[in-house]
Amino acid sequence: MKYLSTRAPASSTERKRFCEILLEGLAPDGGLYMPEQYPQVSDATLSRWRTVYHKQGYAELAFEVLSLYIDDIPAADLRALCAKTYTAEVFGTGEIVPLRHVEEGLWIEALSNGPTLAFKDMAMQLLGNLFEYELARRGAELNILGATSGDTGSAAEYAMRGKKGVRVFMTSPHGRMSPFQQAQMFSLQDANIYNIAIEGVFDDCQDIVKVVSNDLEFKRKYKIGTVNSINWARLLAQVVYYFAGYIQATESNSERVSFSVPSGNFGNVCAGHVARMMGLPIAKLVVATNENDVLDEFFRTGVYRVRGSADTFETSSPSMDISKASNFERFVFDLLGRDGSRIKSLFGDAVNSQGRFDLSADPRFAEAATRFGFVSGRSTHADRLQTIRATWEQHGFMIDPHTADALKVALENRAASKTMVVLETALPIKFSSTIVEALGREPQRPAGFEGIEALPKRVQVMSADANAVKALIARECGY
Ligand SMILES: *Cc1c(COP(=O)(O)O)cnc(C)c1O
Repeated sequence: MKYLSTRAPASSTERKRFCEILLEGLAPDGGLYMPEQYPQVSDATLSRWRTVYHKQGYAELAFEVLSLYIDDIPAADLRALCAKTYTAEVFGTGEIVPLRHVEEGLWIEALSNGPTLAFKDMAMQLLGNLFEYELARRGAELNILGATSGDTGSAAEYAMRGKKGVRVFMTSPHGRMSPFQQAQMFSLQDANIYNIAIEGVFDDCQDIVKVVSNDLEFKRKYKIGTVNSINWARLLAQVVYYFAGYIQATESNSERVSFSVPSGNFGNVCAGHVARMMGLPIAKLVVATNENDVLDEFFRTGVYRVRGSADTFETSSPSMDISKASNFERFVFDLLGRDGSRIKSLFGDAVNSQGRFDLSADPRFAEAATRFGFVSGRSTHADRLQTIRATWEQHGFMIDPHTADALKVALENRAASKTMVVLETALPIKFSSTIVEALGREPQRPAGFEGIEALPKRVQVMSADANAVKALIARECGY
């Protein structure tokens, strides 16, 4: 399998292998890496995978899917990496992503029983093992620098803790994360994890990352990298749970299933698009947003409009509070017939200069729904409270605000007699203030998380000064 950039002109023959793009972020032309084609999963293969998942488990299914895209890691090594990643010990159950039955034809797929209780663990845990493997093979090191307001940073730290060849320098806005999130990150005592609480807001943290990354000499010398959601390996790891969800929700391959996905950067639902392109019988891909409805607007109108910071709202489903959807370029690449020059003019030029583009007059826009199966919707804070409450009253379990967004839009887009799977992306405990607002009671704490707020914390507070962060990195690397 070879990979190309979404912005590569048709004349370009430049292609890369999986391990070349594993440690890279964007392609040098500013595009995102995509596989040259989607491997097709035949009916016979899907039947075999059913047995693989039921008899051998999720890790073996992950190996089957991944090996279609990764041909520069020996099969035995890749299998061992999957087996080491997807264990009941790390993900809480043998199924790894069990389905919870809600009512006739409606399921919730649990993706948030990993170490940080959010779905980002599904991909990040594999990434940690892939990074360690590839860095050892190259005799190289990597220093991950990131900014987080919660989920991404903690998932990255739990994936990279104790990994050889990797350090994580994670900035976060001082005092602004929930006590639970702070406890999760700051209680890590691993020597290769550095928590940096910046006296400022999340944007200050992101600016520091930008300043450091734009200093190319520093970046090269200190081997600075990222683990953001545009990394192809993260997306690929997420494709697996669409197969596992489908297999659990159906008895035969003649059934079609829709997935409803709480969306921000379009990484999760883009993995669903990849699974569908591979031939998984997915009916609809339901894109659910909160008030930051960049994606809902596109699927309704054909206009993609990046929001300024004044138009980006802080909501009660904060992991979906985005101003632009970083993985969206991948889908538009497929929608427009894989025309790299056109993608460059839309995402490289139009988005940069006008902050928007409009495909409403393009005949291909209609295919987003007809050919690619996308539908969308949005919810508000009031919708989330209502959905959390209704689920508790009618079914007796709690869902987190992001999952509530997906459930609300799923119910609006449910076709009679069709199966719908809602992706659960976090556990309620991570967003307890919204749960208390909706239900008047605290969410249950999973075992092992009792009293984590009282654990000793390992964090350094710094002013919003990129030079101070650079000095810390230089001192800790010692090269
Ligand atoms: C990151 C995140 C999302 C959004 O996922 P995308 O891949 O960015 O669309 C939704 N819910 C939770 C809890 C998240 O952490």
